[in-house]
Order: sequence, then structure tokens, then C-alpha cells
Amino acid sequence: MKKIFVTRAIPERGVAMLKEKGYAVTVSDKDGVLTKEELIGRLKDAEFDAVLCLLTDTIDEEVFTAAGGQCGIFANYAVGFDNIDLEAAKRHGITITNTPGVLTETVAEHTFALMLAIAHRIPEGDAFMKAGKYKGWAPMLFLGTDLSNKTLGVVGLGRIGSRVAHHAVKGFGMRVLYYDPKANAEFENEYGAKFTDLETLLRESDFVSIHVPLLPTTRHLISSSQLAMMKRSAYLVNTSRGPIIDEQALVAALSNGTIKGAALDVFEHEPELSPGLSELSNVIVTPHIASATEETRGKMAELAAHNIIEALEGRVPPNKLV
Ligand code: NAD
Repeated sequence: MKKIFVTRAIPERGVAMLKEKGYAVTVSDKDGVLTKEELIGRLKDAEFDAVLCLLTDTIDEEVFTAAGGQCGIFANYAVGFDNIDLEAAKRHGITITNTPGVLTETVAEHTFALMLAIAHRIPEGDAFMKAGKYKGWAPMLFLGTDLSNKTLGVVGLGRIGSRVAHHAVKGFGMRVLYYDPKANAEFENEYGAKFTDLETLLRESDFVSIHVPLLPTTRHLISSSQLAMMKRSAYLVNTSRGPIIDEQALVAALSNGTIKGAALDVFEHEPELSPGLSELSNVIVTPHIASATEETRGKMAELAAHNIIEALEGRVPPNKLV
């Protein structure tokens, strides 16, 4: 009987799919992230054939060694895979998969939720109301910023970035600039989007939204010099990965008025926030929940389970990275 280890409780649909195949499924009973030592302890000598892991698990050489030679696949419950050492996986002959596509719409929605919330000052207004401070309509109360007819700069025009651009153009009549290693002529024709270098995008955009993967080349892609290129009236939105922005530089830029505001779902030192970030009124933060709807987390669980089933039945899983 094939044995599967799931590193943390996920929506039941994924686990049920694995059980229906007759696999013995062990779900970590820890209420929280397993430390690397704990993960190694669970895998060592347990002879699991597959592991369903999360973006909060660091999966590297030592983990693959602990998993042993019979383990054929680590299926990541995320589209990002910066938590996994792909080269080490190749050396161990272990297949790695992710969950692309099923979360695209949800993350694009959350990006707009953040953009609208910071521009229309929703959290500030909500806190003001609940504190009983509202004394009646006033012409200058919580003046915000329109999205309509503004310029959105999309950094990384992949699955999520292009859906964000779609909503911007179709929903808000925004002009879209994008920066990506490769231009997309078809997209430009459909949406009137313009391919630029990063500096032009930062200088011309009213909203900048980050959608690149975390790679050695994208770590601190946005630091103090890039923030200084942005308009003082501009907002920065990040739903990709925290370390893409130099968070200490962002705190400085938000404090001294280099940019107007920021909305973040991901953080450089998760789950910690950089000193000063939570004291700022021109930033809103959500706890890495951009894909967290019931529908999407269920689909992610199903896709991760499907990748495991395909691998264990001798087929190439649809989302094989290596
Ligand atoms: P994707 O691979 O479809 O798109 C990434 C895009 O970034 C590609 O077009 C790629 O060419 C581009 N890119 C790569 N390096 C770049 C660089 N240096 N400069 C500019 N562009 C560059 O991925 P996706 O499905 O759109 O997901 C994007 C990222 O969003 C994921 O890698 C993940 O880290 C993050 N994400 C976060 C959440 C969340 O919960 N907050 C959820 C899903 C995805």
C-alpha cells in the first residue's frame, strides 16, 4: 500500500482523493508548521512514497535524504515553489509539482481588493466607524484616490499578472504598462497594454502590482532606488512573495512620503512584519490569504492530490516542475 504524508491539514477533498485510491494517508497532527527538524523526524524511516507539502515547509537536500529512496514526489500546495530546492530534487530523482492556474482568479481578485481598499481607505474608514467617531457626512472626510483612468504597472505578466491587467482594463478603464522578461504581443493588442522596462513602469504608474516569482534575480527587485523612481502619489501592491520588496526600504518610503501607500499580502520575514510597518496608516496588510477562498483552497488540494496520484500510477503529473 502506498503511503502519503501531508505536512499540515488541508481541505479534506485532497485527502479524500488519496484515500479513495487506497493509499495510507498520514496528515501531520501538529497545529502549525512543522519545523525542519520535526519534518525530517516524521519522514525518516517512515518510507512514505509521496509528500504533500506547503509553502511554509523548507524542502531541501536534508529533507529529501530523510524521505528516502522510495519517495518519488513532493507535491507543493502552492503555485510558488521558492521553498523547494529543485536542484536537490533532481539529484534525488524526486518529482516536484505545484498548483498553477486554479488560484489565478482568486489572487487577482485579492489584488484588486487590496488596491481598492488602500485607494478608498476602507480599513481606515471601518476603524473610524467602529470607534464611534463618525459624526455625519463631511466633504473632506477620508479623501481617497480613483483607480479609474489611472495607470497600472504590472511587474510580471504571467497567469496572475495578466488577470489583474484584464480587470484593470475591462473593469476600471486603466492604462496598463507591464514589465516581464518576455513581451506578449497578443496581450498588448487585446488590452492596449504597453511593454516597458522596470524604470519606465515605476516612473509612470499610479499603481504598481508585483506578480513575479521569488528567484535570486527578483529578491529585492523593489528597493530604495526603485521606490524613489515611483510617483509620490503612487501605491505599491504585493501579492507575490515578500522578499521581492526590501521591506525596510518600503517602511522608509512610506514614512517619508516617497510613495503614497502600499497594500501587502506577503512579507519579507513572514510571519514577522519589519519594524515600523504596522504603525503606518498608509499601508494595509493581509496575512498571506490571496488564494484563501473555500473554492480555491479546495481546488489546490485536489490538484496537489491529482499530481501525487498521477506520479504514483506511473504517469507524468500535469504540473511537474522537475
Ligand atoms: P507565472 O509563472 O504565471 O507568472 C510569473 C511571471 O513573472 C512570468 O510571466 C515571468 O516571465 C515573470 N518574471 C519572471 N522573472 C521576472 C523578472 N525578473 N521581472 C519581471 N517579470 C518576471 O506565475 P503566477 O501563477 O502568475 O504566480 C506568480 C507568483 O505569485 C507566484 O510565483 C507566487 O509566488 C505568487 N503567489 C502568491 C499567492 C499568495 O497567496 N499571495 C498566491 C499565488 C501565487
